[in-house]
Amino acid sequence: MAESKKETIVMFPFMGQGHIIPFLALSLQLEQRGFNIIFVNTPLNIKKLRQSLPPSSTLRLRDLPFHSSDHPGLPPSAENFDALPYPLVIKFLQASKSLQPHFRSFLADLVRGGDPPLAVVGDIFFGWSAEVVNELGLFHVVFSGCGGFGFACYYSTWLNLPHLKTDSPEFSLPDFPEAGKFHVTQLAASYLAADGNDPWSIFQRENLSAWLNSNGILFNSISELDKIGLAYFQRKLSRPVWAIGPVILPVQVRSGKQPAISPEKCVEWLDSKPPNSVLYISFGSMNTISASQMMQLAKALGQILNINFIWVVRPPLGFDITADFKAEEWLPEDFTEKVVKTQNRGIIVSQWAPQLEILSHKSVGAFLTHCGWNSVLESLSQGVPIIGWPLAAEQFFNAKFLVEDVGVCLEVARGSSFEVRCDDIVEKIEKVMMGDSVKGMEMRKRAGEVKELIRKAVRSDDQLKGSSVKAM
Ligand code: UDP
Repeated sequence: MAESKKETIVMFPFMGQGHIIPFLALSLQLEQRGFNIIFVNTPLNIKKLRQSLPPSSTLRLRDLPFHSSDHPGLPPSAENFDALPYPLVIKFLQASKSLQPHFRSFLADLVRGGDPPLAVVGDIFFGWSAEVVNELGLFHVVFSGCGGFGFACYYSTWLNLPHLKTDSPEFSLPDFPEAGKFHVTQLAASYLAADGNDPWSIFQRENLSAWLNSNGILFNSISELDKIGLAYFQRKLSRPVWAIGPVILPVQVRSGKQPAISPEKCVEWLDSKPPNSVLYISFGSMNTISASQMMQLAKALGQILNINFIWVVRPPLGFDITADFKAEEWLPEDFTEKVVKTQNRGIIVSQWAPQLEILSHKSVGAFLTHCGWNSVLESLSQGVPIIGWPLAAEQFFNAKFLVEDVGVCLEVARGSSFEVRCDDIVEKIEKVMMGDSVKGMEMRKRAGEVKELIRKAVRSDDQLKGSSVKAM
């Protein structure tokens, strides 16, 4: 009997690592289930993926033309989205719509060639991809690498701009009252500068309403954990919403970025430290803090003598984002000599660390994170409690969710312009990491429960299939 032809699924993530990573993880899972995957992106990202995917991968990679020189205001580094300063993100989002005709002709060619994809999985920022897919009579789903709660708040805040309608620093969301009260300090800078006619508001309104052309939404989340956020989208969009997470990239697959320290070296150092004694610090793939915040954080780490750390350092705000680590400029004078070398209490990693290998080590007791959703899922899958320092986008809402609903997070600061004090950072880190802290014990217990809930959601045995496996 002839082998039946594999169905094709087209994956089309936004260019940032925080989007490429979960799309790649999802692609690998679908590939294992017998689908033929075409992964579409810009030339630079496709080149990097080609270099970093294992030779055994059968993923088909396809680039679409995108050159920053065609977009006034975008620096050459925009082709490598990781090196794009945050204020230019909106320009990049607007420019990325120039991919639309190329995406259309790529799909039309597949249809003409007799290989119409079974589905196109588009990014949350590429609402327009649903329009194109619709025109061609194909099936489209949005894949949100963000969690249900965080993205529901993000979506509702952009559509309603509730903070503009009150003089109070507090507000709630008219179509999502279950989310509770928000404070203006939980709004990213783009919301605070919005008036409804600014580029961000216009982009978000158009993008989010284009989601209505999609046939359904996949969330990198867990239905048992994220009920009210997922229910919000079901109600709002009248589309099926599936929680298929956590979809996490296996450690042996890199998405195009290479760590500045080998995973083996990291693990060897972690092996030499007591359980739960290491704080892992990272602000994700593109965010950073200010120079003075970096100083205060370093001073705090220097003071808490019985805590170790691995800190992924990216240049502070205002510096060239791709620059290599400069301890003498960014950290207190004797920090590297005394704390890192003599006391052997920490590792500083420039730009990119092997995050999953670190988080899955028993010596890691907490994760100080910007609360990007991939980082959150990676932490919770390992039962690691979170110290939240949200900086942009929906990260503030993720932090709110983790503090108020899930009970696994304590916020240390909000935003990159907020004045933080060393003493305050010390107090919060101690509260989470000291063995005798009641708060820390509660958070660790709760994180362990969430880890178990996640393990059940992804269980694939026939008798006990988890919710995420069924949804997939
Ligand atoms: N990441 C990593 N090493 C680093 C920093 C980040 O491997 O040094 C990965 C991390 O594991 C996660 C992703 O990059 O999968 C960051 O995604 P997230 O949603 O947390 O944040 P974003 O970068 O989108 O703000």
